[in-house]
Amino acid sequence: MSISNIGKILSEYDISDVTVATLCSHSSLQIFHGAKKEGLRTLGIAVDRDTKFYDAYPLAKPDEFLKVKSYRDIEELGDELVRRHAILVPHGSFVEYMGADRFSKFPVPSFGNRDVLKWESDRSTQRKWLTSAGIAMPEEIDDARKIDRPVLVKYSGAKGGRGAFIAKDYMEFKMAIDYSQQHTIQEYVLGTRYYFHYFYSPLTDAGYRVKGGGSLEMLSIDRRDESNIDELYKLGSVEELKRLGFFPTFVVTGNYPVVVRESLLPKVFEMGEATVSKSQELFGGLVGPFALETIVTDKLEIKVFEISTRIVAGTNPFVGGSPYSEMMAPGLSTGRRIAQEIRLGFATGRIGEVIS
Ligand code: AMP
Repeated sequence: MSISNIGKILSEYDISDVTVATLCSHSSLQIFHGAKKEGLRTLGIAVDRDTKFYDAYPLAKPDEFLKVKSYRDIEELGDELVRRHAILVPHGSFVEYMGADRFSKFPVPSFGNRDVLKWESDRSTQRKWLTSAGIAMPEEIDDARKIDRPVLVKYSGAKGGRGAFIAKDYMEFKMAIDYSQQHTIQEYVLGTRYYFHYFYSPLTDAGYRVKGGGSLEMLSIDRRDESNIDELYKLGSVEELKRLGFFPTFVVTGNYPVVVRESLLPKVFEMGEATVSKSQELFGGLVGPFALETIVTDKLEIKVFEISTRIVAGTNPFVGGSPYSEMMAPGLSTGRRIAQEIRLGFATGRIGEVIS
């Protein structure tokens, strides 16, 4: 089987027996909960983990589990998944743990456009995409010797902020850098970090219409709790702490809900729309959930430091809906919205447009 057969595989699926499948991690509770609310079957792929905690959440417990020992073994589940008429819902951990390359070739229908992976998995192609869409990003510094302001140094592919560090000059950079890993240096943008959770549907023209067709939704916003940077200030100055051997880290431990000043919303939608329109020009377009990860400055500028092109864990506070999704439909989460799009795809005969 190969990915070029997805259309054929899908032609044998029917909404009455389709199964929403995802990896048991990240936002799986929300994805299963949303699919079940829409009356779809659900399947959890559990890699070497205890699934007992799902018993505590019966409305989100998948109808069935497939258990494997390692992430590599997921590849062997292809036939079984297709037999169950599975549609995979990729989330951040699914793609990261399986590997973007392996995921992109996995011959099981998957929600969204897999071509986006080529543009998303590398920080430099992400930057090309977003800046060519007219989106403001933190400035990049190509040579560490030119560091003339506080910067954030990030390692490529490091998700959840692992390993990132702040440097205020070249000396500090040299003290902390691990040259064995690829890194980028960005100006440190001072402001509040907001993560906007969008959903682009090519199947509907209702709501906020996008040039060229389809509609853009902004379902919710979160910010992340990051350990230990968010708590470090309680212990004294960062300089003092560094001397004691405590260094700030950005590892995500949780998320909390946000609403933004209403006057920012036009800009938030313009950014989302520009991202979608440019993606259509570059690779046939984003489909479904994506998030712009931003910093809002005290001048109310919004700088995007990253894009995530699938459901993000920051949507998890909104399993029962958000202050924004409540104005679209009651109890609408991103997980449920995905299931609705699958339903709509089958109902309109356009499922091929949201699956790859
Ligand atoms: P990332 O690896 O891009 O997700 O970044 C890790 C964390 O660093 C983010 O969650 C933010 O808290 C923070 N961050 C990322 N980029 C910047 C930036 N340019 N300026 C300030 N903080 C940033």
